[in-house]
Amino acid sequence: MNERQISDSHLILLNPGPVTLSDRVRQSLLSPDLCHREPEFAVLQQSVRQQLLAVYELSAEEWAVVMLGGSGTTAVEAMLSSLIAHDERLLVIENGVYGERLTQIAQAHRISSTSLHFAWGEEIALQSLAAALDSDRSVKHVAVVHHETTTGRLNSIEPIGTLCRARNLSLLVDAVSSFGAEEIDFERWGVTACAVSANKCLHGIPGVAFVVAKRPALKSACEPARTLSLDLRIYFEKQERADTPFTPPVQCLYALDAALLELAGSGGWRARRERYMMLAEQVRQCLARLEVQPAIPPDESSCVLRSYRLPLGMTYASLHDQLKALGFVIYAGQGQLQAQIFRISTMGAIDDAAVARLVAALTQCCAQPGKTRTISVQRK
Ligand SMILES: *Cc1c(COP(=O)(O)O)cnc(C)c1O
Repeated sequence: MNERQISDSHLILLNPGPVTLSDRVRQSLLSPDLCHREPEFAVLQQSVRQQLLAVYELSAEEWAVVMLGGSGTTAVEAMLSSLIAHDERLLVIENGVYGERLTQIAQAHRISSTSLHFAWGEEIALQSLAAALDSDRSVKHVAVVHHETTTGRLNSIEPIGTLCRARNLSLLVDAVSSFGAEEIDFERWGVTACAVSANKCLHGIPGVAFVVAKRPALKSACEPARTLSLDLRIYFEKQERADTPFTPPVQCLYALDAALLELAGSGGWRARRERYMMLAEQVRQCLARLEVQPAIPPDESSCVLRSYRLPLGMTYASLHDQLKALGFVIYAGQGQLQAQIFRISTMGAIDDAAVARLVAALTQCCAQPGKTRTISVQRK
């Protein structure tokens, strides 16, 4: 695709990140060149770290944000490899691709771990978790995904946190696709740390990720470190002194700074959750009229992403290509779900007009033969 085609395409991204950017965030990318050893960068970095704490009103005395260049997986890997000591054991809860990735990360770093496995999309059974923790008293940390983007299932963290607290375990959460749009009650749920990326519910661009952690957890990080460039302690110590260990993704921080101002200015995570929920429900209701069924019950799904069963006789590729021609990029199921589901995420700077066009486009693509009406969708 040449440059012209890209700039003409105006595609609305309905994949779970990177998201459709607002004009303000896009414009921020034209900010001046900046050396990361100059005071202007220190101001930008501190501003972003403080705004991230403010999203969930976390106290800077107890919590810290550690930023790293990279994608969401970078933050998850830094969290697990840094916050679990060499002699400590981890229990990973899996009910999707990202839970299974937590196990892969633990294995890559030779972290002693055990998995509590559920099928993709299945609910986490608390009795099984309690039984697993009671039968393996050497476990010191539990890792779980908040919003399992594989299927759109929103895992309930609070009861998991209650089980962890009763056993004095740390709780490490992959909140990559929920931070900024779903409720996360850090203190009440007993979260020790969570991993986040800039380019999902926060509406920044890909390239910067972070770990929000309790300060004591960062101070007692794994020693000696398992990795150099993912060692949270190095970043934490430098960033606390308004410095940075390595070259940070400067432009990503410009974008995230603008995106966070926009989030705060538009009512914070609560307003964003309401907005996402309204858009997700509009899509669900449209698909329900077309007899396209959700793969996960809507009240167990996130506001961020929903998965739907592919209509009978329709392949993902054909649905994807038709929608793309109408200006929308949807997302396939992963692994064994590829032939069964498709996913639609209504996160990002998506306005009402775009959603109205999406509803028309879905109606055009999914209408049953015989029931088909001709609806022409205007490309913006
Ligand atoms: C997107 C995502 C990640 C990280 O993905 P990257 O491709 O590394 O940004 C991790 N966990 C969840 C739940 C996600 O949705």
